[in-house]
Amino acid sequence: MGSPVSDHRGRSQKTPRQADAMRAVLHRGFIETVRWAVAQGSTVPCVQDPEGGWTSSDRMQRLSAAARCLECPLLDECRAYTTECPEPDGVWGASLSTSS
Ligand code: SF4
Repeated sequence: MGSPVSDHRGRSQKTPRQADAMRAVLHRGFIETVRWAVAQGSTVPCVQDPEGGWTSSDRMQRLSAAARCLECPLLDECRAYTTECPEPDGVWGASLSTSS
């Protein structure tokens, strides 16, 4: 599906297929990081309380969930992940998605 193109600075851009593959790898890596942290005894708020508003349709509940992200030991990793792979829905890394 198309070959890589260069942006206005001459940097190589990924094809859509390459970008999808990279997002899948990064997503899998982040989920493995979360599982590892939980296995080590860390409290990850969205895992501990999955009904806590991270995916709620109510904006106030999502804001409450975002506040709880600030206590998460994986906050920096979560933010780094969503910077590379913006998630379309829910709260990630104390931020509401662009569609929220
Ligand atoms: S920072 Fe990320 S991993 Fe941590 S509670 Fe928030 S959404 Fe979950």
